[in-house]
Parts: sequence; C-alpha cells; structure tokens
Amino acid sequence: MGFDCDIKICRSLCCRNCAVVTEDEAIALIGKVKKEYGLDLELKKYFRKAQGEHGHYFAVKMIKGQCIFLDKEKRCRIYRCRPKLCELYPVVDIDVVDARCPDVMKNRFSQDMLETLKKRYAIEVDERIRKEQIFCFV
Ligand code: SF4
Ligand code: SF4
Repeated sequence: MGFDCDIKICRSLCCRNCAVVTEDEAIALIGKVKKEYGLDLELKKYFRKAQGEHGHYFAVKMIKGQCIFLDKEKRCRIYRCRPKLCELYPVVDIDVVDARCPDVMKNRFSQDMLETLKKRYAIEVDERIRKEQIFCFV
C-alpha cells in the first residue's frame, strides 16, 4: 500500500494477504509500533503462528479476508512499522510482481522502481521466508 494509491479502485488489495514475519521481526514490529503509535500489540492477538518447511513464523491475522491492521478507510494503522513484505509490495517474490495491483496495471511503478524493490526483496526479506512455498497455520 502506498500513500497515494487510489484505494477506491483496489480497496487495498495488497492488504488481503497475510504478511509473514520471523519471531524476531514480530517482536521488533511490536516495539516499533509502541514507540511510533503508542499502541500495545499483543503478539497472540495480532499474529498467528505459521509453519513452513524451513521454520516457524508469525503471520499477521486476517479478519473477514483483510489484514487486522487495516482501518475502516482501508488504510494501514501501522504504516510506518509495516512488515517488510508489505513495504516491498507489489513485488511478491524475488522476480514476481503482483499484476493485479492497479498501480502496476497503470504503470505507475517505473521499471527502475520495480527492479529496486526486487533487489531489496532478495536482500531484506528473511532468507527462510524467501525459500518457503507454503505456510501452514498451527
Ligand atoms: S499498492 Fe496496489 S493494491 Fe496496494 S493500495 Fe496501492 S494500488 Fe492498491
Ligand atoms: S500491515 Fe498494513 S500494509 Fe501490511 S497488510 Fe496489514 S494493513 Fe496492509
């Protein structure tokens, strides 16, 4: 989700997948949210445990098909502290761009921007998360 996205069109499509983080990232996110927004997030209330082939993770909870952090106006309540996978959207894998995003369809991301996001994905997303194909909730 970007600040200037026309969410009337997409209804924040990018916030209808649960972002996955490592346990350390979940703890760091909770600390940042406390500092930035003064909100106390309880790990169990906002995250579900997820199991992959390479480790255990935490997935941001979904309510009625959308992220628990999305507000009534379809804006992220923790935008400045959002998970890396949210920050790097519409890149959803090392070399995959989500073609359903209206900003992608309208070419609002330049090729350079997408290439930068892909490079960041390869470096900044946890190595184990990058390797996972499927997450199971436990
Ligand atoms: S990044 Fe794409 S899907 Fe997400 S809010 Fe913006 S236009 Fe919508
Ligand atoms: S954390 Fe924020 S940006 Fe990420 S999916 Fe949830 S509402 Fe969207």
